[in-house]
Amino acid sequence: MRGLAAASVSSTVERRATSAPDDLFASAAAAGVHRLAIPTPFAVGRVNVYLIDDEPLTLVDAGPNSGTSFDELQRGIEGLGHALEDIELVIITHQHIDHLGLVSLVAARAAAAVAAIDVAVPFVENFSAEAQADDDFARELMLRHGVPADVVAALQTVSQAFRAWGARADVTRPLHDGEALALRDRTMHVHHRPGHSPTDTVFHDQDRRMLLAADHLLAHISSNPLLTRPRDGSAQRPKALVQYLESLAATREMDVDLVLPGHGEPITNHRALIDQRFTLHRRRADKIHRLIEQRPRSAYEIAQELWGDIAVTQAYLTLSEVLGHLDLLASDGRVRELTEAGASVWAPT
Ligand SMILES: [Zn+2]
Repeated sequence: MRGLAAASVSSTVERRATSAPDDLFASAAAAGVHRLAIPTPFAVGRVNVYLIDDEPLTLVDAGPNSGTSFDELQRGIEGLGHALEDIELVIITHQHIDHLGLVSLVAARAAAAVAAIDVAVPFVENFSAEAQADDDFARELMLRHGVPADVVAALQTVSQAFRAWGARADVTRPLHDGEALALRDRTMHVHHRPGHSPTDTVFHDQDRRMLLAADHLLAHISSNPLLTRPRDGSAQRPKALVQYLESLAATREMDVDLVLPGHGEPITNHRALIDQRFTLHRRRADKIHRLIEQRPRSAYEIAQELWGDIAVTQAYLTLSEVLGHLDLLASDGRVRELTEAGASVWAPT
């Protein structure tokens, strides 16, 4: 998550896995992949960090930058018969602070290498400046799409405070989409899956039919397609939900039996879950389309129609959800954005 992005706005009731979650984590552990649920101060709850008992001894994500989280991480690693100082490689799944905040501390203590997908490197290495630039982008976007100025100001304050749970890290081992990351006992194929964030990366163990998916696919909530600023200097903002659905479609094609997510329980039938997500987003887009057919509205008005009074901390999340679906509708030629004096409303075509 970004500082502002405490949790998904769209909880959906989920099918239960056929096996109990504990058994599924146990089967991952039997393959040397151990889940450590590390506390976060955010609404999303604990974050799943994974210790891969292999050579190099590998940690996938590290948790947010807090003393409590660090203590639990250290104890969890010790409970598995290792010391934090034994970690040799830390892999970052994506740029959100609940996953990367402790990376640099762990890497420094353990003299570990740090791996992340190449597109994440500038963000991870320049965390503060990048986070500030994201906040500036978010402010402009919120004002343009009807979020009241006092809400925007309050959210910026919250976001600045949240930034303390992140921290920069040096990436010593940049990864590339499609490459194979070989440990002694396993090979993990690296796949870039942007959408939830621009840097989401999944790690596929083809032999064990296991996927470390972080926040790309979660069982209990739909992942937010958070809007982020363009990195290529273009004026067009990336269409996060459109990208996300493309990424999900690619994951749907993968042959995996077990998906280990960044929050919550493991997933055994990823295709059914992804199909549910496709249905959810299609329905939400249709609902938004009906609202716009009644009359043109700003994205913020649509968010209020969908979710009622929105907590300050949810303002950017909900705006990202709505704009994501408006992007889908626009690419289908069903809505268009009308901008006047820097303010946008959406109208039917
Ligand atoms: Zn995330």
